[in-house]
Amino acid sequence: MKEKYEAVIGLEVHAQLLTESKAFCGCSTKFGSSPNSNVCPVCLGHPGVLPVLNKKVVEYTVLMGLATNCTINEKSVFARKNYFYPDLPKGYQISQYEEPICEHGFVNIVFKDESTKKIGITRIHMEEDAGKLIHDQSYNTLVDVNRCGVPLMEIVSEPDIRTGEEAVLYLTKIKQLVQYLGICDGNMEEGSLRCDANVSVRLKGEKKFGTKTEIKNMNSFRNVERAINFEIERQIDLIEDGGKVIQETLLWDADLNEASSMRGKEEAHDYRYFPDPDLMPVIVNNDWKEEIAKQMPELPEVRKERLISKFKLPKYDAEILTQTKSIADYYENVVTVSDDYKSASNWIMTDVLKVINEEKIDIKDFAITPENLGELINLIKEGTISGKIAKEIFPVMLKENKKPSQIVKEKNLVQITDTSEIEKIIEKILTNSPNQIKQFQSGEEKVFGFFVGQVMKETKGKANPKVVNEILREKLNHK
Ligand code: ADP
Ligand code: ZN
Ligand code: MG
Repeated sequence: MKEKYEAVIGLEVHAQLLTESKAFCGCSTKFGSSPNSNVCPVCLGHPGVLPVLNKKVVEYTVLMGLATNCTINEKSVFARKNYFYPDLPKGYQISQYEEPICEHGFVNIVFKDESTKKIGITRIHMEEDAGKLIHDQSYNTLVDVNRCGVPLMEIVSEPDIRTGEEAVLYLTKIKQLVQYLGICDGNMEEGSLRCDANVSVRLKGEKKFGTKTEIKNMNSFRNVERAINFEIERQIDLIEDGGKVIQETLLWDADLNEASSMRGKEEAHDYRYFPDPDLMPVIVNNDWKEEIAKQMPELPEVRKERLISKFKLPKYDAEILTQTKSIADYYENVVTVSDDYKSASNWIMTDVLKVINEEKIDIKDFAITPENLGELINLIKEGTISGKIAKEIFPVMLKENKKPSQIVKEKNLVQITDTSEIEKIIEKILTNSPNQIKQFQSGEEKVFGFFVGQVMKETKGKANPKVVNEILREKLNHK
């Protein structure tokens, strides 16, 4: 019965902009400052003060608009969104309403099988954040207004998303773009990237949308997917039971793995939006737009194509390596040292990303420098060490900040390629293994592997495998 239905999902994403100062005053945006220290009469909303727009907020939002194929409106207007809450001393948030700065864009999401889907972006507007309430263990609530006035960009999608998986792919794209543009750190856990999901269901083939609910409070990609899937199922069950979805706001509880009602429609906010009389309309004329466009860095899709053509990488590799700008930078630094492009990609995709994901760190904080990884790859390519030894050196490099060549020297790991030395070892092993030789001669090919294993054991993995194979074949054929 679930197959009869289809979900309709639209996301509202808030991204905290990486400006030094707040949106309308000179206060610092620094995270983690002592509570209520980064404040002034403007962001506290004292009577009679005048907000002054931070130019960077406009530039960053326009960059995002250009990167998501939006129209940049020459004129946009700040509006007051009025509501009372203890974390909002002003009694209103400065936002944009009827005339946002960017509209009518889209991004392409990419599925695992490399197929793509276009997700429309309705609008991107600028606004300011509210403060924070901290509920302590003894039922006191503390107010920290440091975050009041910190600039946000809100990206509203069209209801083009159909599954939890698509929602995560869309969010991944948005995060990738803001990070490439350097306008937001994209950290969901710390709240610098926040996502609200609007979800409804309808019978397949139906044109009209169903009633939607809005889920808030999901602080990771995983929670976004789980919350959306939970809500789709809840709505279908409700309808199947003869009930009706009511428009409401739900809060996701990651521990309980369920969403519960925060407020219903009857309490829905009426924000009484009106143009902020303290702020002039924002005018982004063509000259300014072009000036901003000049600051546009290489975007992930372009970079991906470049990696494919310049380094002859498979599409899959390029997709993984361009996930974040810092991974792509790391890769490009490795291949300035080693021209074994595919090996460099393999090392990063498997060994490096494994550590990064396990330790939940950015590749910028990864212990092995790109120069040292490049050198390690060169040592294999030149035949100084085997690939197997390299895999043993890698964890040592993780712990000790040493060049791989130094570790090879200290631990005496140089590969043995000297044929006479390898010959001697092989002779000794053959003399000690008459039974295995008989087995091999009677056609048991797999015994060959036994001999190779013995040589590797004897040389602690340092014998050049190619040389070992050649000499072994030669000797066994003449036995
Ligand atoms: P509201 O006025 O309730 O804030 P909006 O029209 O501004 O609603 O849309 C907010 C978000 O909800 C957008 O991302 C939009 O794509 C999405 N949305 C609108 N209608 C639906 C629906 N019926 N089902 C799911 N998502 C929807
Ligand atoms: Zn201030
Ligand atoms: Mg809305």
